[in-house]
Amino acid sequence: MADLKVHNSLTRQKEVFVPLIPGRVGMYVCGPTVSGESHLGHARPFITFDVVYRYLMHLGYTVRYVRNITDAGHFEEEGREAEDKISKKAVLEKLQPMELVQKYTNLFHWAMRKFGNLEPSIEPTATGHIVEQIDMIRQILDAGYAYVANGSVYFDVEKYNHDYKEKGQPYGILSGRILEELEDSGRELDNQDEKRNKVDFALWKNAPPEHIMRWSSPWGEGFPGWHIECSAMSTKYLGERFDIHGGGMDLQFPHHECEIAQSTVCNHEMPARYWIHNNMITINGRKMGKSYNNVIKLTELFSGNHPLLEQAYSPMTIRFFILQTHYRSTLDFGNEALKAAEKGLRRLWEAYEVLKRLPAPAGSASDAELDAKVNELLDGMDEFMSDDFNTAKTLANLFELAPVVNGIRDKHVGADALSRETFDRLQRYFKTYLEDIFGLQDEKGGDNQVLEGVLQLLIDLRKDARGKKDYATSDKIRTQLLELGVLLKDEKDGSVSITFT
Ligand code: ZN
Repeated sequence: MADLKVHNSLTRQKEVFVPLIPGRVGMYVCGPTVSGESHLGHARPFITFDVVYRYLMHLGYTVRYVRNITDAGHFEEEGREAEDKISKKAVLEKLQPMELVQKYTNLFHWAMRKFGNLEPSIEPTATGHIVEQIDMIRQILDAGYAYVANGSVYFDVEKYNHDYKEKGQPYGILSGRILEELEDSGRELDNQDEKRNKVDFALWKNAPPEHIMRWSSPWGEGFPGWHIECSAMSTKYLGERFDIHGGGMDLQFPHHECEIAQSTVCNHEMPARYWIHNNMITINGRKMGKSYNNVIKLTELFSGNHPLLEQAYSPMTIRFFILQTHYRSTLDFGNEALKAAEKGLRRLWEAYEVLKRLPAPAGSASDAELDAKVNELLDGMDEFMSDDFNTAKTLANLFELAPVVNGIRDKHVGADALSRETFDRLQRYFKTYLEDIFGLQDEKGGDNQVLEGVLQLLIDLRKDARGKKDYATSDKIRTQLLELGVLLKDEKDGSVSITFT
């Protein structure tokens, strides 16, 4: 199998993926801030990295996938450290902050399940790791890269940049930003008077009296800055150096840049080797944002209950729509594109269902040319996925294979056109890619799958009973299934066919 190549944001090029420990991968992905309902913008990173996770496992890696929950009540809004949303809203809605956190965490998990995302190996919360964060802040202070001001602790970006520039790791290494330019920009940031430099960021914030979420620390009561949680939790669960750090492109700066600076001071090296960032979603060509009134919550998307939506879109339609574009390209969200995705998914799934039921050909291929073409398309799928997870091109090959399958069904293509080997491979690839790697599911078939499994179990039990000449039991199974409208018929070749009457 071809080497896996990934685009590394840090080096700005595609690189062959080599894990630190052979056979194992540590992957950290920045999770949601649970101060509100997840929206469409959250769908892309978590679906993207779910497929990365699945593909790494498909390649045989043992993966520890860590995705955090930001619940400690400190948030950034477009690079600006905003006021504490959780506490503010909590007063407004007369709820405990943790009640809100729980509610939105549950909603987030519900949406992830709907999308068919696998659960990460560890999902640590910021509030559950205050001790680790305080410990890391203390290390940064001890190393001389932070200072205390009025009960808050700030990271000294200039000193870091000065010292680490010489070591080839200036502040801005990931995002390509230059510190001097950031300092010259006219943007006013909060707590300006406390900071030595306006680019300095908070590691710990002193909590004003009305702030509900607060913890004791060596610097007084307060709460951690946003960036420190990811440094603390990635170090704890993946080590000082790990393989992959992922997230949306909007997190590159300042969040990931700050993570790199913090972790480097504590652990003396760049935390992750490969930085992978997915591009953003636009809506009808516009950036998503409250000011455009185009933020679509996931619940609205699934119900169609939003002025921009012409209909409801199922979670699998959205998943498929996202996978039809390479993760590094922007993705424009609109009704036409979504309806096309809905149709496309149905077409592929129908071909998959047909393929499952086609009888396998006997032996060698009667159409060598077609047989070779099918194999070429299947080889291409592995190559595309190993080329920086190109789900778009992989799906395009599946679309080219669908007419071959339908052709056999409709008898335009001979039942023996493909060799047995190629046919089996085709079946295997449809299943592996659609279900195991892309995580797509038959949405109407959730119950059918269970039913199929239960029926197979009963057929097996009946066979066992007959084997033991326990005809009372085998007849009971057959009769009672018939009463439920399921007819079992014993075929000559020993198999059992099922008919719903
Ligand atoms: Zn993070």
